[in-house]
Amino acid sequence: MAKMYYDNDADLGVLKGKTIAIIGYGIQGHAQAQNMRDSGLDVVIGLVKDRSWNLAVEHGFKPVSIEEAAAKGDFVHMLIPDEIQADVYNKKIKDNLKKGNTLMFSHGFNIRFNKIVPPKNVDVIMVAPKGPGKLVRETYLAGFGVPAIIAVEQDSTGKAKKNALALAKAIGATRAGVLETTFSEETETDLFGEQVDLCGGCAEMIKASFETLVDAGYQPEIAYFETLHELKLITDLIQAGGIEHMWRNVSNTAEYGGRTRGTRIITDKTKAVMKEILEEVKSGKFADEWMSECARGMPNLNEMRKDGADQQIEKVGEGLRKMFKKG
Ligand code: NAP
Ligand code: MG
Repeated sequence: MAKMYYDNDADLGVLKGKTIAIIGYGIQGHAQAQNMRDSGLDVVIGLVKDRSWNLAVEHGFKPVSIEEAAAKGDFVHMLIPDEIQADVYNKKIKDNLKKGNTLMFSHGFNIRFNKIVPPKNVDVIMVAPKGPGKLVRETYLAGFGVPAIIAVEQDSTGKAKKNALALAKAIGATRAGVLETTFSEETETDLFGEQVDLCGGCAEMIKASFETLVDAGYQPEIAYFETLHELKLITDLIQAGGIEHMWRNVSNTAEYGGRTRGTRIITDKTKAVMKEILEEVKSGKFADEWMSECARGMPNLNEMRKDGADQQIEKVGEGLRKMFKKG
């Protein structure tokens, strides 16, 4: 079993006198910055004067420009969207990094695919909470934390791992548990997971089964309940105790039907496609495709968003969710 790190494995003392520059005050930025400050760290926020600037001020920070934050920070934590990190790094951060500083990430994309190439005389680490920012903040305030993974890509100071563990502790993660990974492993598994089962595969499976029922003449509302709404009940069981636990908690009929039919949906052919998708991730083909999509202003993504919103399953769901009584 991989080693899990907890509070006792991490020492906040190694960050004494150090400044943490958080670049971006969005979903992760606001949560990690506030948790770190509440853990006693010296945090400065680097932003472009815009919407999230006001939120940072509201939360008691005195934001500065990205250049100034990067110059002040012993640690520079990149918490702006992945697709703009390289541009911002090259224009505003690179020249403000000093020997022995640490460049820090919550996702390995830009390092793994060489979109950002830091100088050799800085440390490069990752502290990635395994949960959305809102939860990172809420669980911290409740006295606990969201689990995280850490990784060290460059260790010029010899202190990179100790620092990564301390920063994970500061956001509350070592209260829950921290695993060590590499930038490559985190990035490749993250992209694969979101493309294949979590977001891509799951969304298409729901849509295809919804459409199959509606095409066969069943009421769309009933189809929606069956194929989309109930999925959470099943994934809650799977998360709580694994797949066999789920089977034990559905009816024998559901179990027999599911065990015998599921393998007809996900076949060796499907698995071969999964392997293909993993290869596209590992080779950098996906990363290049995505960067070029971003550079062109995301025309395909915008088109797919428009098509998605027009689909029957969205309209049916919107109507149904409004009709539910709350509480
Ligand atoms: P996000 O919320 O989309 O980031 C928003 C922040 O970035 C805002 O402060 C925004 O400022 C700033 N920003 C946007 N465009 C900018 C630009 N062109 N120049 C300068 N600043 C800009 O990002 P996120 O979802 O927290 O993701 C940050 C990192 O955490 C990513 O590496 C991501 O993979 C990783 N991560 C995210 C989650 C999650 O829960 N979302 C989970 C794990 C890891 P304005 O408001 O002023 O535009
Ligand atoms: Mg992910």
